[in-house]
Amino acid sequence: MIIDSHCHLKHGDVAGTEYSAEEIVRVMDAAGIDRSVVFAMQTTTRRSIEMARDAVAQFPDRLIPYVYALPSYDRPVIEELREALEEGFRGIKMHVGECRIREHISDPVFELAEELDVPVLMDLGGDLGTAQRLAAQFPQTKLIIAHLGQYKCTVEPLIGQFIEVAEAHPNVWLDASGVVMTYLIAEAVKRIGAERVLFGVDGPYPRPHEATGARYAIRQIEMLEISAEDKAMVLGGSVARLLG
Ligand SMILES: [Zn+2]
Repeated sequence: MIIDSHCHLKHGDVAGTEYSAEEIVRVMDAAGIDRSVVFAMQTTTRRSIEMARDAVAQFPDRLIPYVYALPSYDRPVIEELREALEEGFRGIKMHVGECRIREHISDPVFELAEELDVPVLMDLGGDLGTAQRLAAQFPQTKLIIAHLGQYKCTVEPLIGQFIEVAEAHPNVWLDASGVVMTYLIAEAVKRIGAERVLFGVDGPYPRPHEATGARYAIRQIEMLEISAEDKAMVLGGSVARLLG
């Protein structure tokens, strides 16, 4: 079973592109993806809940919802997160691109994630210090570091340091979406085990060529010099275990 652990209902691109549940599932079908974790960003927490709830209502057997944690200074979002997670959302997304991941932003979310035993998928944009602090300070919270640490990173030592964070902290998983130094995904598998490396497309990218991006992401895992069991684990087993 192939599970995409990182799929956008609304992207972080300049246009804030939104994707319908139908579009996402069409790409999944074309690429051979069984299930996808879906979330919105570049919007409020409340809207992210509505978008994911509607998508999952249409495809309950295919889509798995995460809630987007973005602080609001008009009202606290912690209760909105809690309600969504208690209703069945399976994880939380945070993104450094829309707020600084300072203590007052991240820590209440990490406490809630520990309490409700859901992972936090966090795009840290290469902020190694914050990854180290959160991994150490919240050892009972499951932290998924997006893109092995930084989206489309070409600085090998930096990714090496993020893998070190995961080596040092068993509560850390690495998301292998948006990775251009493909061999570092294999490096991560060798150092922390396939159980803690998650396949993701960071799509769905239905345009201009349906499912090309998703197929490419799958091929990236299939071409790694790791065992067939490890490939299967990365492509779906690891996130299935993580989310129970
Ligand atoms: Zn993403």
